[in-house]
Amino acid sequence: MKSAVVIGAGISGMSCAIDLARAGVRVMLISPFSSERSQSVMAAGGINAVLPGAENENGDSVASHMEDTIKGGSYLGGKKAVKGLCENAGEIIRYLEGIGTVFSLDGEGKPDKRAFGGQSYKRTFYCGASTGKQIVTAMIMEVRRYEATGLIDHRLWMYFHSALIEDSVCHGVLLFNEITGKLEAVLSDAVVMATGGQNRLFGKTTGSTQCDGYAVSKLFTQGAELKNLEFIQYHPTSIETTQKKMLISEAVRGEGGRLFYEENGKRVYFMEDKYGPRGNLMTRDVVSREMDAAKRDIFLDISFLGKEEIERRIPEVRDLCLKYRGLDISRESIPVSPAVHFFMGGLAVHLNHETCIRNLFAVGECASMYHGANRLGGNSLLAAVYSGKVAAKEIAERKSENKTMDYSTVLERESRKLDELRNNKSSFPVAYMRDMIANTMNEKLGIVRNKESLEKGIEDMDYYLSAAEKISYDKSVLMYENYSITGLIILAKAIIISANERKESRGSHFRSDYPETDENSAYATIISYDEGRYKLRQDREHFYED
Ligand SMILES: Cc1cc2nc3c(=O)[nH]c(=O)nc-3n(C[C@H](O)[C@H](O)[C@H](O)COP(=O)(O)OP(=O)(O)OC[C@H]3O[C@@H](n4cnc5c(N)ncnc54)[C@H](O)[C@@H]3O)c2cc1C
Repeated sequence: MKSAVVIGAGISGMSCAIDLARAGVRVMLISPFSSERSQSVMAAGGINAVLPGAENENGDSVASHMEDTIKGGSYLGGKKAVKGLCENAGEIIRYLEGIGTVFSLDGEGKPDKRAFGGQSYKRTFYCGASTGKQIVTAMIMEVRRYEATGLIDHRLWMYFHSALIEDSVCHGVLLFNEITGKLEAVLSDAVVMATGGQNRLFGKTTGSTQCDGYAVSKLFTQGAELKNLEFIQYHPTSIETTQKKMLISEAVRGEGGRLFYEENGKRVYFMEDKYGPRGNLMTRDVVSREMDAAKRDIFLDISFLGKEEIERRIPEVRDLCLKYRGLDISRESIPVSPAVHFFMGGLAVHLNHETCIRNLFAVGECASMYHGANRLGGNSLLAAVYSGKVAAKEIAERKSENKTMDYSTVLERESRKLDELRNNKSSFPVAYMRDMIANTMNEKLGIVRNKESLEKGIEDMDYYLSAAEKISYDKSVLMYENYSITGLIILAKAIIISANERKESRGSHFRSDYPETDENSAYATIISYDEGRYKLRQDREHFYED
């Protein structure tokens, strides 16, 4: 029987695992924590689609969804891929309903849609402001169905360590079992990475600290190419807490929320003043940049919707503001600021979601394909479900190659390295290094960057890399945190190098020294790694769109 290992159990990992199991492929699903605690659960605002048969119902169409996605991504999203994404979106809503996702309904009892940024029509299906949670819950039930038949084996407390690769073919993975403290080798016909974004590099973001980028970084050092790392989405509206930046969903602006600052005792609705009535719903890169440029305290007002409508449409946002700020949003405005939210870059994949390493796939936020230089709200959940399905189809249809690999030497060598790390008595704490990486990333790779800040960022990372050898083993944190830290620095450096290389402003990448978009720079940045050397190339041939 054919087998696959899926690393990560958020929406993209589960989408892939479910379709693999449906096709009769045996799946080992790996995640340190249960799916209920994956970042996907946090997704609030909704998922975009034009339903089959509803084309042109309100003027909307699949073609318009495609156009908005390509334009919103500043013309860097893979065009063939975006076509597939948008054409399948309606069926994906039907699929999600079919497995038990309960979407919010309109007055006629049909799934309701809300307006989201950068989109020409209302096409964002939602479940109140907990869309991710509802989809995850439905998918968990499907996973359990296949667990009962033995087709899915979901193993918790397990971390990705490295891939078993020989001659550019992936044969399986080494996993770290945090309970036993040991590495385990698993051979399989295919490996699917679904490990999410790289939030942890930035410390406090709207996302989950589980998404640290280690797996992507490790594969980078093992030969996988990375794409468009410089494009990092700052979401315009968050509130800061001691632990993280809590997202104030775009749903609030979708429901009419207005951004403003105060000047001489008067409200200035700066987005509407500059961009007209839909100003608050410009794409996220534009709104974040305007907020940054305003250099004032910014507020978001939704109070005019009234208590009842707030309760009906965005109860989760009301609860969040009450809990973390003691704010009653039916009477008061929300103080908001931009925060790192989403990573358009990641593992470079072909249309079938395979990386440049055969039988190694990547889906969801850890892969780079659909969103170009800026993602539209509501397109990520869609891409997570869709990419999981695309990879599953490819794996299920592919003939098993029946190749194997003798991993004993690798397993022994890597286990020895972990033992050496445990015996490392130097005194440089892991947590301190993590904070230093986050400081550099936030300072040097903000909403606005330039040559000076980026070159200083690269210097910082080189220093951290040399210091990484002196990092002590810290028993108070997971072993995973200890062995993964160098990978975080390697990836952080790749991100800054990619940003330094793109000498223009496009989408979420804004450079004060190159403020204009350069028509000749509509390429994807591809970065690879060879024994400590970072190699960049500009992909204009759409190599990854074959
Ligand atoms: C607050 C918030 C709100 C959002 N709202 C929306 C929205 O309304 N609409 C929308 O389209 N998008 C939204 N997004 C984006 C969207 O939620 C994510 O892009 C999407 O859910 C990512 O899914 P994923 O399966 O790729 O990754 P995740 O859900 O992040 O799952 C990653 C999985 O990988 C595991 N993992 C990570 N590292 C390792 C490792 N080393 N070894 C083993 N396992 C590992 C994790 O434990 C987890 O199980 C939002 C994001 C945030 C943060």
